[in-house]
Amino acid sequence: MPQVNLKNFSSFEEIKQYFREQVKKLHPDKGGNKEEFLSLLDWYHKVSEKFGEKYKIEVVNKCPLIGNYFFSVVEFTVEEIALGGKKKIQIPGEEVVCPSCNGEGKKKEGLTKICGFCKGSGCIEIRDKRRDIPTYLNCPYCRGLGILWIENCENCKGKGKIRIQKEVYIDIPLGLKEGDIIFIPKEKIESAYDLYLEVSIVPHPYFSLKDNNLIYKCKIPFWEVILKKEITIYTLEGKEKISSKLFTNNSPIIIKGRGPFLKNGERGNLLIDFQIYIPEKIPLKAKKLILEAVNIIESQEEIQDRD
Ligand SMILES: [Zn+2]
Ligand SMILES: [Zn+2]
Repeated sequence: MPQVNLKNFSSFEEIKQYFREQVKKLHPDKGGNKEEFLSLLDWYHKVSEKFGEKYKIEVVNKCPLIGNYFFSVVEFTVEEIALGGKKKIQIPGEEVVCPSCNGEGKKKEGLTKICGFCKGSGCIEIRDKRRDIPTYLNCPYCRGLGILWIENCENCKGKGKIRIQKEVYIDIPLGLKEGDIIFIPKEKIESAYDLYLEVSIVPHPYFSLKDNNLIYKCKIPFWEVILKKEITIYTLEGKEKISSKLFTNNSPIIIKGRGPFLKNGERGNLLIDFQIYIPEKIPLKAKKLILEAVNIIESQEEIQDRD
């Protein structure tokens, strides 16, 4: 049971209830199997990690105008929005000396020019007025080299310092919508900055989110509805089979409690928005056979009508 399978639950409350019942059943003090009990604890720990923490993450509508913070648009998958969980994101970390240029900001193999200050000699002359003896110092501009590098270091863009990226994990709050801004205080991620992350949802080939529901769009060939007992669909928990009879009704098919987890721990519904697929071109031979089938069906219906 270590996998977090949420297929049979329509809310976090239900998960908690199931957990309490299982604890009673599997507790080693009550004669339960120790391994099974530990695996239950592990499973529940993973599930609550998914749901417990997220209430503490704040969703705000906009960033403040002033202050020291880091803002970024973060892409979430439909599954992440619907099921929550942890997400790894990159944020700017501390500033360090650029290793490419040792902090000098110049491209070492790049173009050079003669130092104008020392005229390429690398040193400058200072004369003591009273004694009239020249003293030579290393040129402060080129540090005695006589040349200057013209091009900036590509790694640090001439700044001599770079900000290293830091990876942090955030709990994905439930019930996020496109354009929401998540606020994460700096203490929570041991960063110098507060984080404001704007939610962007990556388009999915067949799932979308709307009004607390997950919409699964699909095309079902007409012969599958006729010939198959069950039809394979995709849900948040993976592939599943449902009765083909459901596809003889109007779209959408509503599967209660199998949609995204919401802010309050409840689950929305899964809506199967289907279209019956009819090929554009049906070969003549196939058409004849379909006609034959239709004739059989219609004569059958007449018999039934007469009953
Ligand atoms: Zn110089
Ligand atoms: Zn550099």
